[in-house]
Parts: sequence; C-alpha cells; structure tokens
Amino acid sequence: MHQDIRDIIPADHVKYDEPMSLHTTFQIGGPADILVIPSTAEEIINVLRYCREQKLPLFVFGLGSNILVRDKGIRGVVMKLGQGLKTIRIQDRQVYAEAGVQIAELCRVVAREGLSGLEFAEGIPGSLGGAVVMNAGAYNGEMKDVLTSVRAVDLNGTRYDFDAEQLQLGYRSSILQAGEYIVLSAALKLKPADPEAIQATMRDYAQRRSDKQPLDLPSAGSTFKRPSGYFVGPLLEQLGLKGFQIGGAQVSTKHAGFIVNTGNARAADVLDLIEHIQETARGSLGIDLHPEVKLVGEE
Ligand SMILES: Cc1cc2nc3c(=O)[nH]c(=O)nc-3n(C[C@H](O)[C@H](O)[C@H](O)COP(=O)(O)OP(=O)(O)OC[C@H]3O[C@@H](n4cnc5c(N)ncnc54)[C@H](O)[C@@H]3O)c2cc1C
Repeated sequence: MHQDIRDIIPADHVKYDEPMSLHTTFQIGGPADILVIPSTAEEIINVLRYCREQKLPLFVFGLGSNILVRDKGIRGVVMKLGQGLKTIRIQDRQVYAEAGVQIAELCRVVAREGLSGLEFAEGIPGSLGGAVVMNAGAYNGEMKDVLTSVRAVDLNGTRYDFDAEQLQLGYRSSILQAGEYIVLSAALKLKPADPEAIQATMRDYAQRRSDKQPLDLPSAGSTFKRPSGYFVGPLLEQLGLKGFQIGGAQVSTKHAGFIVNTGNARAADVLDLIEHIQETARGSLGIDLHPEVKLVGEE
C-alpha cells in the first residue's frame, strides 16, 4: 500500500495522471502518474525520500522546453522545478538564483541591474536549472561563460556544491544530464555595463528570433544538435525536408531546424519524423544527426 505523497507535500502541489502535454512547450506527452511541483528545497528532499521508500522512479524537469514525452506518459513521480524555487539574489556582481527561475525573468533582472553576460539567453524559454543542465546557448554565448557554481542534491538528498569546471559543460552537454543530481540553484558572474546597452542587445536577439523562428507554434526549439561544419536548418532545406510532415509533426516551414506541432501531434509522429530526417541525412550526405531534445517516458 503506497503512502499518500500528499502527507509530505502540500496537496495543491500534487497532481495525479497529469497530461505532460500541459507542461511541455511541444504541448505533447502522455500522463505523469504523479506530478509534484515543489516550492522549496525541503519539499524536494521530502519527495526524494518518498521515492526511495516507495521504490518509485523519479524524473525531474524544469519548464519542459527541451523534452519530448512519449505518448504513454511517465511512470512513477515526475518533479517539475520550473514553477517553484524562484529566488534571485545579487551581491557584488555575483548572481545567485534558484533552479526554478525563468531564464527570461533572470535576463530582465540582471539587465536592469546593469549586469552583462546573459544577453545571449534572451528568448530561451526554460528555467535556470534546465539551462545549466543543457548548457543552453545562443548568439555565441552559453551558460558555461557565466556560470561559477551550482548547488545540487543527489537522489539520496545529499547536497553538493560544484564549481562550474566540475560539470564538464560542452556543446549542449554536461555531466548533469546523466540524471544523478537535481540542480537547486546556480551562481553566475556577470560584468558591469550600461543597462540601456544590455537591453538593446536583448531586443536585437529577440527580434532575430521572431524573424527566423516559428515562435507561433509549439516546439522544443532546435530538434538536433549542430553537426560539425553544418547548420541544421539549411541542411534540411537542401534535403528537401522543409515542410515535410508526419501526422501533426512538421519540419517548420519558417526554420527547418525546428520540428513544430501543427495541432494534434503525438510523440510518435515527432519520433517518426526524427527518424525519417536522420535516415535522409545519413543516406544522402552521410551525416549523423543527434537529437538535442531529450526523449522521456514509457516506450
Ligand atoms: C522556441 C524555443 C527556442 C529555444 N532556443 C534555445 C536556444 O537558443 N538555445 C538553447 O540552448 N536552447 C533553446 N531551446 C531549448 C530549451 O529552452 C533549453 O534547452 C532550456 O535550457 C531548457 O530548460 P527547461 O527548464 O525547459 O528544461 P527541461 O526541458 O524541463 O529539461 C531539460 C533537461 O534538463 C533536465 N533538468 C531540468 N531542470 C533540472 C534541474 N533543476 N535539475 C536536474 N535536471 C534538470 C531534465 O531532466 C531534462 O533532461 C529553445 C526551446 C524553444 C521551445
């Protein structure tokens, strides 16, 4: 008999059989058995203990902007960190922020404070935790450039303080992607600059995104990592794949590097489309494309 998770975390932070399509920017994904939305580190530790005691698997995510959840959903406990844990503190150009802070919010706050270095992240629709785990980047910047340290817990609830160098941050990669740690907060080092100049750069990046990216349709951003020597968008265009569609999943007609959900896409449609693209790129040009988007859930 399972103990009720609502004994250890407020009932309004728990949802049963919750469609993950409501929690991913792709608007795709079957139900999570138990979705918990903790608002403090203590609640996170309690959930970890609950999962250990009840022998339930755990999946942790931030704002769901880089995940594709399969149609059968996710068994066990799913912990969403992009809704609670929102503290931001700034001292001597060091920025401390909790994992659930939205990158967009953090960009706005540091720009107002006249702190430069995070402009590249304007328009990345994830949480700080997700950005650290993915080493998110754009416009010649990445989290690695500004991150100094990360506070995390392992699945036993033991706390760790990592220096950024220990995380082996690479192109959209870090050791945190192995899923052994939960990021609680991060410290960033930024440089003083004129707030107006920072905001102008951010406006420029936002404009470039809205000119080039299909921001009007649900997606998880770039589907594939950039293969050496190529940009994925032009590559897929060259292969005649722009606009190619399987079910509700389409290679965006605006930017072929994005797969978009045109309405009722299932995860299976996206996966079939990814496979078709990979086979075409391999068959025609001998190029291996690797998804940047993380695939989760029951097969
Ligand atoms: C329109 C659009 C544009 C985008 N543009 C960019 C871009 O320019 N550059 C870029 O790099 N990305 C981009 N992305 C992808 C995405 O926004 C980033 O990867 C973002 O950093 C993911 O953050 P998230 O909170 O949504 O992570 P999620 O999608 O929720 O999770 C991503 C991974 O991180 C793990 N994770 C998340 N939070 C934690 C945590 N606190 N502790 C441990 N593990 C965690 C999850 O398990 C998962 O493996 C874009 C996406 C969209 C939809």
